[in-house]
Amino acid sequence: FSPWDDPAAKPFIEFRNVTKRFGDFTAVDNLSLKIYEREFFALLGGSGCGKTTMMRMLAGFETPTEGQILLDGQDLAGVPPYKRPTNMMFQSYALFPHMNVEANIAFGLKQDGMPKAQIAERVAEMLRLTKLVPFAKRKPHQLSGGQRQRVALARSLAKRPKVLLLDEPLGALDRKLREETQFELMTLQEELKMTFLIVTHDQEEAMTVADRIAVMDAGKIIQMAPPAEIYETPNSKFVADFIGDVNLIEAKVAEKSPQGTILQAASGEFCIDTIQETPAAVGDTVWYAMRPEKIRIAHGDTPEANAVNKVGAEVWDIAYLGDISIFHSRVGEKETLRATVANITRLVERPIAWDDKVVLSWERDAGVILTA
Ligand code: ATP
Repeated sequence: FSPWDDPAAKPFIEFRNVTKRFGDFTAVDNLSLKIYEREFFALLGGSGCGKTTMMRMLAGFETPTEGQILLDGQDLAGVPPYKRPTNMMFQSYALFPHMNVEANIAFGLKQDGMPKAQIAERVAEMLRLTKLVPFAKRKPHQLSGGQRQRVALARSLAKRPKVLLLDEPLGALDRKLREETQFELMTLQEELKMTFLIVTHDQEEAMTVADRIAVMDAGKIIQMAPPAEIYETPNSKFVADFIGDVNLIEAKVAEKSPQGTILQAASGEFCIDTIQETPAAVGDTVWYAMRPEKIRIAHGDTPEANAVNKVGAEVWDIAYLGDISIFHSRVGEKETLRATVANITRLVERPIAWDDKVVLSWERDAGVILTA
């Protein structure tokens, strides 16, 4: 499923050069974006980057200052929220406290004048899909946070909107429940064959549920791609740092060839030989972004200075997280590199301990050269 790779594919939702200003402040800055039918799309970014404003413009709660928003080829300008084929699920859930679960789910359908028998059928289907059958007669205050969240979801989906908008939907849930609910959301989206747009500041959440992620900063999209591409080949220091853990190594371009690039770390301790080509010129300063799990750590003879893709280091901190351990190692006077190791076998005794002298090494495709 990757319609975005097909130049002939018709976008389902399209933002065309959309800008939103609040007074002098530009919340969304000339942003263009295409989302495809049945895609699970995530807008990811820190507080104030404009992601919620994007969603609110699509739902019709805000009007773009400039630009166009289209849904299924139709320009949404002037279409009021209730006439849009979108439905937004809010973080607060906004359930009716005096109505039971069934009545909460049925509410919007009744308002639309749907025949009774059909409402009953639709409500039953929603109860089943969201695993709420045993709780149908309970009021919201008799439910757990996770159950309330599912009622809100069932109510948002009952009308079968073409697009479900999720605004930080899982923010109030604890970690385990959040992870479970993420998988439920993915299953629901597949079963109902709908387009989901989620707004979140949680990179793990975006990586888990989304087909594609747009990473936003200051009203602009910095990178838009499937999760693995964003993680493996971030296009900037901002994205590399925002998504996951990363070693950002300052370096100078030493040599360029069609086989790749050789960099010299600014610390003067080691060289990096990479398969990647770069637009930067020899002598330019760049950054090499390398994920900690791409670095091997082992005991061994310290390599000579400026060795390629390996360097001697001294372990100064080890964080044991159960599934992985993170080794912080000092390289020379100025540099610290982090290496993570999967704890495949039970750690009876640490093979590598604090203050150990180690060798860090990596492959030619371990990281990416960044110029911005
Ligand atoms: P958060 O995760 O904190 O909600 P966000 O990325 O969703 O952040 P938005 O809600 O889109 O951010 O807001 C983007 C910027 O626009 C913020 O700086 C916010 O203060 C500003 N903003 C949003 N709505 C209004 C408004 N009605 N009037 C003035 N400024 C606004």
